[in-house]
Amino acid sequence: MALPLKVDLEALDINSQSEYVTYSKQVHDYSPAIKKLLDLSEDYVPGSERAFKAGRPAVWCQGGNYQPPLLYALGVTPVAYSEMGRYSSKEDMLLAEDVYQFPVETCSMLKCTVAQWHKRLNTGTINRILGSSSSCEPFNLSWELMRLRGYDVFVNEVIYRGPSVEGERLEQLVDFTVEQLRDVAEWLTGSRDVDETKLSFEIARKNRLLRKVKKVLDLRILHPFYMKSLAIILTLNVGLNNYFGRPDDYEAAIDELIVELENTPIDEKEIQKAIPLVWAGGTGQEFGVYEAIDLAGGALLGLRSAPFKDYREDIPPLEAIARWVYDNSIAGAGVYARHVLDAEVTRLKARGVILYGYIGCSFASIDREMWRRFFHEKGLPCVNLEGSFQTGAPTGQVLTRIKAFVEMLAA
Ligand code: SF4
Repeated sequence: MALPLKVDLEALDINSQSEYVTYSKQVHDYSPAIKKLLDLSEDYVPGSERAFKAGRPAVWCQGGNYQPPLLYALGVTPVAYSEMGRYSSKEDMLLAEDVYQFPVETCSMLKCTVAQWHKRLNTGTINRILGSSSSCEPFNLSWELMRLRGYDVFVNEVIYRGPSVEGERLEQLVDFTVEQLRDVAEWLTGSRDVDETKLSFEIARKNRLLRKVKKVLDLRILHPFYMKSLAIILTLNVGLNNYFGRPDDYEAAIDELIVELENTPIDEKEIQKAIPLVWAGGTGQEFGVYEAIDLAGGALLGLRSAPFKDYREDIPPLEAIARWVYDNSIAGAGVYARHVLDAEVTRLKARGVILYGYIGCSFASIDREMWRRFFHEKGLPCVNLEGSFQTGAPTGQVLTRIKAFVEMLAA
């Protein structure tokens, strides 16, 4: 039931990212838990906007890193603006170019996000943006543009820990970040005080879910085709970060998934057939790439965003968040994420690494090149792909290269 489907991607006639999610629900017909996770993903943005209109505070934000625990503790839903990409089309690209004068070569991630915000102006939906200076220059520009258009925008300073930063300098960074977190609280609530009981509750919830999702990832080694690439990417990269705006429902679905996986008989043929792969790089909206991996017989079992470290629960919660930020793969330098990738390659005995980024994104291309060299020196095959933050059907060239790479590994 869960083995790769022998169908041609083009025959699926899927033309939008939303259609991929619908298709993924059909593919996972045997798993109520995965369908619930995909339902949550599908309703994340619209559901958060509905809740906002009904009175629940919400902000557009990265939806990861330090933001969700802090925002949930403040009673605010974090809504990841990157998830708006799946509602975008070629018309959104044109809108961004015409109204905001973006050069045509500007990355599509930025153009579709700005266009989506533009279309929401004066519609009564979420009107606050929590930006991050650690994103990229195009996004830094977008905060200013949206502020000029009337959004209430707050932007944190850059978070970055150089590879050799320790001791007193690190303590300064932690203190500085705690004040930054208080700045966010003040912007959202008018007070720099953060309820420590609520924040500790959110940290405990996050640690609990990090452990549960780690368990899912371990069980996937025994059932490599049970949860396919798009479903795990949405569950991990979006859901584990911000719970799709519905923490209790997300946790219940993860619990159900663990039970399903534990109760599914192990099929040795399935394990032998799987080609374990690690995904290194961005996971945007080009959902067809993930389907191409599945259809070629690859099993995307390792991800750059795999849970790496828990939050400390033995220190004040704001400090715990600041220390987690500087002690994790998102601390800035590419070497931190490489440690996670290397741990994933070892854990899974991976046979290949897929490096993926967006056309026009200088932000991530240097990291990808460093990682490619690192894994090549270890003798591990890598493919370095550039796709787009897709707004339509997937690009043929990327799909062809994925298929060829997986087939080469299989041979
Ligand atoms: S594709 Fe790269 S440069 Fe463009 S918005 Fe995303 S991170 Fe920034």
